Amino acid sequence: MRILIVPGHEPNFGGAEFNNLKERDMTMELGQFLQKLLENNPHYQVFIARDNKAWSTEFVNYYQNNWADIIEWRSLLKEEFSRLVVMGQIVKTYSAVVHNDAPNEVATRLYGLNKWANENDIDITINIHFNDNIRPNTRRPGEYSGFAIYVPASQYGNSEATKTLADSLFKRLAKYNPVSNLPGESTGIIDEPELIAVGANNSADTASVLIEYGYIYESQFQNKEVRTLALKDLAFQTYLGLEDFFNSDNVDVVKSYGTLLIPHQWSNLVGNRSVPLDIFALQTALIFDEVYPPSNKTKNDCARTGVIGPCTRTAINTFQAKYGIRGEDGRVGPQTVKALNQL
Ligand SMILES: [Zn+2]
Repeated sequence: MRILIVPGHEPNFGGAEFNNLKERDMTMELGQFLQKLLENNPHYQVFIARDNKAWSTEFVNYYQNNWADIIEWRSLLKEEFSRLVVMGQIVKTYSAVVHNDAPNEVATRLYGLNKWANENDIDITINIHFNDNIRPNTRRPGEYSGFAIYVPASQYGNSEATKTLADSLFKRLAKYNPVSNLPGESTGIIDEPELIAVGANNSADTASVLIEYGYIYESQFQNKEVRTLALKDLAFQTYLGLEDFFNSDNVDVVKSYGTLLIPHQWSNLVGNRSVPLDIFALQTALIFDEVYPPSNKTKNDCARTGVIGPCTRTAINTFQAKYGIRGEDGRVGPQTVKALNQL
């Protein structure tokens, strides 16, 4: 299978930014993790559109040699699509969620990626993004969190295959990560008629998803000590979703957990001053054991953050009650560590 990974935005500009963290760097980091996972599996041939400095040579050359063709193709597609709408063969639909318009040159590059993918028999294109929303105070985190998968609207030829793929990806991601609670995104998989990346104007023959992996201000991304792990885990879950889509039957222990964070050995007591990685793994284990988030909360209320707060303390209490641990009262003491390691 030939997979094209497109880390969202240009190498040097565009995308969300928050507290010096840039979406375009996060999308590249996640994309490179995904690339590595796929390259280790002989079933996949992997292409990645760019790194943090430049577009990949393949695409630099393609754009250089085909720029005028891409522009012409883009306008032909639009004309053809409008003609079908006028003839009543297609009902034009509109995005449920407002997206920023790409500048013209960026839009041409996105059409170019679709054209290249069509010509090079790519089977699946994965566009990687992180979300943001308009916030009254740009220095403060917003109110929304979670991931969303955009798929081509049903009037497009690549819609059906993409939706099946999105279901597989959704199941893997939703196990450990919140689904977006932004109105319009809360179904987790969203029909999208206008995003070029998933094939607007019928420009993509390949199954194309655009995954918004979360909101840039979410604490697991802002927390430097767990960010890389959080991105790695998202890449891993995407990889597992692809494997599920192709009905891979080689399920091993790691795949059955569905995360890179467990199994984990907790050697120290996990208190407020302990290692964020241990806490991140603890939160993951508590999700796996179905005590996190606490019963009246959602994953959006209680994300995996690498920091112990009220959600984690409540979940530890439930965990201790479940395994008959006494006298540690929501703290991770020796008995709790022992129970976690045994599990
Ligand atoms: Zn983006």
